[in-house]
Amino acid sequence: MPLSRRIRPRRAAALASVTALTFVVSTSAGTGHPTARSTAAGAGPVAPARGAVLGPCMITGGHAIQLSEGVPTGTGYSRSTGTVRALTLMVDFSDAPGPGKALDRFHEFFPKTRQWFRTASYGRLDYRPETPIPDWLRMPKPFKAYGIERGAPFDSGYRNLVQDIVSAADPKVDFREYDFLNVLMTPNAGPSALDTVLSVTFAGNTEAPVADGVPVANASFVYSRQDDGSGSYARTGYRVLPHENGHVFGLPDLYTQAGGGAVGHWDIMSEDWGANNDLLGWHKWKLGWLDASQVGCTSRHGTTAYTLTPLERAGGPKMVFVPLSGRTGYAVEVRTRAGNDEAVCRPGVLIYKVDANVDTGMGPVKVYDSRRDSGGCTRSPNVHAELSDAPFTPGEAFKDPKRGIRITVVGREASGSYRVVVTRR
Ligand SMILES: [Zn+2]
Repeated sequence: MPLSRRIRPRRAAALASVTALTFVVSTSAGTGHPTARSTAAGAGPVAPARGAVLGPCMITGGHAIQLSEGVPTGTGYSRSTGTVRALTLMVDFSDAPGPGKALDRFHEFFPKTRQWFRTASYGRLDYRPETPIPDWLRMPKPFKAYGIERGAPFDSGYRNLVQDIVSAADPKVDFREYDFLNVLMTPNAGPSALDTVLSVTFAGNTEAPVADGVPVANASFVYSRQDDGSGSYARTGYRVLPHENGHVFGLPDLYTQAGGGAVGHWDIMSEDWGANNDLLGWHKWKLGWLDASQVGCTSRHGTTAYTLTPLERAGGPKMVFVPLSGRTGYAVEVRTRAGNDEAVCRPGVLIYKVDANVDTGMGPVKVYDSRRDSGGCTRSPNVHAELSDAPFTPGEAFKDPKRGIRITVVGREASGSYRVVVTRR
């Protein structure tokens, strides 16, 4: 195990209400990437495949929830299937001039981010990062003048910054050609990511400055390098960007004020440091990467048997959902060490509760630990340890006696599929 610096637990989302529209700022995995979203309409993502059978599993949150786990995702976010074009600009300042070539900064994140989404989406998201301006885009004011700090609201620092980015880029960029914006800041702007994470996404923000007739409604900003000193930066440091882009597609933060203890390393919206990881099956369904035929919905009483294939592999049944109400339910999926999941130390059946009525950063998802207080099985740095052995294995069962629900792992097949039986009394 390499010596590494332990990343401090990240602080929670900062909330800020702005304007008449409901407008929340949440933060990213860690020290904090605010995600603002207004409730105004816009071009929404492709709705997940529906079916009458899945209706009871399409849980939704109340109106007060800004960034919800509900299905389908609200309007105003970027599409998450098909070809998506990400305008990617490398930005620097007179008091933080970009070191070296701007395209070297770009290559810290690409092609890795594009490949991460291709793998996670089973090829359904064709993510095209585009750099119509291949050099550093110099802002007219020094970095300090924008007053950017962790949890900073959109107004007025980010509004000024976005306005200046639009003015500087507009002669060479037609903003209508892109689905969202990535701003790769020069890494010397602001504090070290070990001290505080500034990276932030403003999503569904139709109040943002307008460029070429369209608001810059979905924009991710990435700052200093998430280098934990473990020597893995070159391989895994890009992962802050897929996390931030998760917000432009409408995903909430799964880490809370207490850190990654609710979901651990089972989703990049929970932990984007350390070894590569995937998204929960729930998120893949929400993003339109799973078909209706790949999701089972256990809303009726009785006993139902399912065979689930590993989430990281394309094709086959991936998730069972057991709704408890119109807001919440249990999700069941198989996680193994494959695809983007490179740190799984106890493969098996992951069971978690999804609550569409809990907001970003407040714990909308909770993973159930089949081995509580075990300390976990991972030896990977910056992977939440306790939940690393959370999956249930054959012979084990998750029980909710109060609601008469039992989820039993019956067996594992040679193919790697798991047989699961759900009983609802
Ligand atoms: Zn986030």
